[in-house]
Amino acid sequence: MTLRVGPSGVRLTVPPRASARQIDSFLRASESWVAEQRRRLAPAPPPLRDGDRLAYLDDVLLLEVAPARGRRAAAGREGSRLTVTAPAGDDPGRLVEGWYRREAARVIAPRAQAAAAALGGQAGRIAIRDPRSRWGSCSSTGTLSFSWRLLLAPETVLDYVVAHEACHLRRPDHSPAFWALVADAFPAHAGARAWLRENGARLHRGPAWRWEGLSPS
Ligand SMILES: [Zn+2]
Repeated sequence: MTLRVGPSGVRLTVPPRASARQIDSFLRASESWVAEQRRRLAPAPPPLRDGDRLAYLDDVLLLEVAPARGRRAAAGREGSRLTVTAPAGDDPGRLVEGWYRREAARVIAPRAQAAAAALGGQAGRIAIRDPRSRWGSCSSTGTLSFSWRLLLAPETVLDYVVAHEACHLRRPDHSPAFWALVADAFPAHAGARAWLRENGARLHRGPAWRWEGLSPS
């Protein structure tokens, strides 16, 4: 079987005798490869601008870009408004991402410690990163790493990934015993995993991903 990803979509070529089950497992195994190819083909997301809506867990933030006029570059949230002070020539998107990364550390660290404690363990360092194809990881030394882009997903998805990685402190594999731990720690895991399969690649389009392609209202 071969898969091709082009600008008009994904083409699967199947030998005549392939069974539905073989096709299905081939497609499942290729899922992250297809997502990666589609991401490469997609044009870069448009730069963030004043007035854009941004995803933040279950909330929507309104981006306000203020010229710096001699002030230092800064980004801060007040209520549902994220205000970025950008010196001329500075990309507001870079400042927005910096803000999300700091928020991710603030929001995720206590959740990860609580999830680890609930399982009778203890997390080591909590790191915020931006990996290409995973949302979290657990090192052999107990460092839990998370993608800042989890803040662009519903809160339940973030909590699922935190629970998943905390469970790896107990079991570093994806064995049935691991999944039993996850089911115990986070009963709604199937829905969160389905959400990530469906929407995960789009989080790489940036904080305005939910509204991309929609006309401004
Ligand atoms: Zn895992």
